[in-house]
Amino acid sequence: MRIYNLGSINWDQCYRVEHFVRPGETLMSSAYALHLGGKGANQSAAAAKAGGQVTHIGCVASADSALSKLQELGVETGGIYQQDQHATGHALIQIDDQGENAIILHAGANRALQQDWIVSQLQSAEKQDWLLMQNETNLLHESATLARQKGMQVAFNPAPMDRDLTLSLLDKLDLLIVNQIEAQDLTGASDLDTAIERMQQQAPDLALLITLGAKGACYCQGNQRHSVNAFKVDAVDTTAAGDTFIGYFLASLTAGLAVSDALPRASAAAALAVTRAGAIPSIPSRQEVDDFLARQP
Ligand code: ATP
Repeated sequence: MRIYNLGSINWDQCYRVEHFVRPGETLMSSAYALHLGGKGANQSAAAAKAGGQVTHIGCVASADSALSKLQELGVETGGIYQQDQHATGHALIQIDDQGENAIILHAGANRALQQDWIVSQLQSAEKQDWLLMQNETNLLHESATLARQKGMQVAFNPAPMDRDLTLSLLDKLDLLIVNQIEAQDLTGASDLDTAIERMQQQAPDLALLITLGAKGACYCQGNQRHSVNAFKVDAVDTTAAGDTFIGYFLASLTAGLAVSDALPRASAAAALAVTRAGAIPSIPSRQEVDDFLARQP
């Protein structure tokens, strides 16, 4: 089983500054770092590191080095369209001396996908392959419809949350992946149990994977419920914890693991990720996850 991940690819350009730039000001930064990011790229990287077969479907500027970066991570990049009308998605991130940030995000090529391209990329997809999507590209409805017609399974992680869009997609999804805040925003519920109840009333066949930060995660489908605790670790940076969880979870399912086995594996990978700084560099390898699980009492 293969994962086709329709997702964003961003370059995060991080500038360390004394204070955020003011109108009319030219400000020197004291440090600069460039990282590959975007929820799409993060989740592809995580699923590939987990050992999954991952084809990323996306769009970048011609000859962007994101392609070789993703290839090095084990992601199949033939599904990434290269064009010259739009810049590759990027974020300009100012980080001040207090650690606060101010971000300009330019979606660029991420929202310039053409339907013909998606159709051609899903041509070779097989029944039971997964289409994974986040809310950082265009053509979500069209792609989910096409995937369903082909008998694929569709997973959606609605980040950033758009309530109306997510509700309108529900009948095309097999798996909805949200964190607790998103689950409650989506349903207007003040607690998790009510959120789950409302989601299940609205979409009885839909499987829900809800990540709960340091409290772990739960999976619900019909009467079936599985919960997993988070592993106790010294958290340094939770960036991409959710993306790591999702990539590992789906890759584990495609490798034939049951949900009850995929959950602790994803939780272990995400726990390792929060012990390290950054997004993609923080995602552990399969071997690291195996070693971590073997060390648990
Ligand atoms: P992000 O947006 O930072 O990627 P998220 O809000 O989508 O994260 P969370 O629910 O915060 O997702 O975290 C995802 C998973 O990461 C959790 O289900 C848990 O397994 C793991 N995790 C998060 N925080 C911790 C922590 N402090 N200790 C151990 N594991 C953690």
